[in-house]
Amino acid sequence: MENCLFCKIVSGAIPAARVLETDSAIVIKDINPQAPVHLLAIPREHYAGIHEVPLTNKSFFDDLMRTVDEVVKKENLHSSGYRLVLNYGEKAGQSVDHIHVHILSGRTMHWPPG
Ligand code: AMP
Ligand code: ZN
Repeated sequence: MENCLFCKIVSGAIPAARVLETDSAIVIKDINPQAPVHLLAIPREHYAGIHEVPLTNKSFFDDLMRTVDEVVKKENLHSSGYRLVLNYGEKAGQSVDHIHVHILSGRTMHWPPG
């Protein structure tokens, strides 16, 4: 996608702090962190959100969550806990229309989220 920020980050056209790369996704540090650790797992393939992923793409969510699992273990986030966030749509605060999973850690999380 020509005008997609995260496609440009995936391709390397825009630099980002990469924490992990897998065949299907990259994990970067969020530029505006909301916790001491704030990572974004971004699939290499462009889909606006979860509902845009076709049923024929059977390994998409498996690959994405495997990437999350890998980076959580690599960064040792599971020992103290972490939160996954996936915003969809304007009201939920989605600002980049390329599906991505937020991984937040390093502080006490509150409930309900804002
Ligand atoms: P969302 O609001 O759920 O769509 O999440 C988009 C996230 O991307 C926000 O948390 C932003 O801080 C983050 N972000 C925007 N531009 C960049 C960038 N160039 N590098 C890293 N993270 C970014
Ligand atoms: Zn994209």
